[in-house]
Amino acid sequence: MTEPALKSFDPAEYRSVVFFAGAGLSAESGVPTYRGHAGIWAQYNYEDYACQRAFDRDPVRVLDFHEVRRTHVLQCAPHAGHRHLAQLQAAYPHIRVVTQNIDGLLQRAGIRVDAELHGSLWRQRCPSHGLRDDLEAGPYRHRQCPDCGAWLRPDITWFEDRVNEAVFDTARRLVAGCELFVSVGTSGVVWPAAGFAQLARDSGALMVEVNPEDNEASALYTHRLRGPASKVIPGCFRLPG
Ligand code: NAD
Repeated sequence: MTEPALKSFDPAEYRSVVFFAGAGLSAESGVPTYRGHAGIWAQYNYEDYACQRAFDRDPVRVLDFHEVRRTHVLQCAPHAGHRHLAQLQAAYPHIRVVTQNIDGLLQRAGIRVDAELHGSLWRQRCPSHGLRDDLEAGPYRHRQCPDCGAWLRPDITWFEDRVNEAVFDTARRLVAGCELFVSVGTSGVVWPAAGFAQLARDSGALMVEVNPEDNEASALYTHRLRGPASKVIPGCFRLPG
């Protein structure tokens, strides 16, 4: 029996479109998702590697851990879903992208990201001198601030951290104002994912979910496109012409 064709969407029909990307978008590139056996927190205790307390206790150990994650992500490449989204956004600049991902794969595909809610593996922060970009996508050039010697922490929202308020406000404004809300590869249970889907729905957006599986938030969506992002995004979101 052949599978029924999935519905397709024309971004030109909506004044504003938000793609909300979670860890599932990177899964086919080889970056493990948060949940499940392959998930990184099944192997490592976050209290040793991914919170401010761990960094204060042992910055070298925490930076080594992030170095391994960066090295792994560098071996991963954007897939057909990322590439199609980049083409869509180039054709329709009103497509805005909000993500929980920290891996930088969207940007490497040429996608303009409006809000990285959980920061980025590719930035570092000095407590006194603020952001120190490190966009060369290689090993850390500095582990300590060249100006004051303080340890530079990854600019990531770790466990126990608060989400950056300005970034969160940008995302919330975009989500509240969109006519088409497309979530891709999020389980919808990590804050703020669940809140954003509810907000978009309450604001009257057409709700589309791209995910191979149901999850706790799926009931919020009118259209549930079941399949991997690398197939569903190119198959269901039309380019002009
Ligand atoms: P999650 O791990 O909780 O859920 C992943 C979702 O993706 C699941 O619903 C799964 O069914 C779906 N999925 C799996 N393969 C898919 C595919 N090929 N196409 C589409 N969907 C697919 O992810 P989350 O909700 O984004 O929460 C993860 C949290 O952990 C966030 O806080 C994030 O910052 C962090 N995180 C980030 C990365 C990354 O940057 N790539 C990776 C792991 C965790």
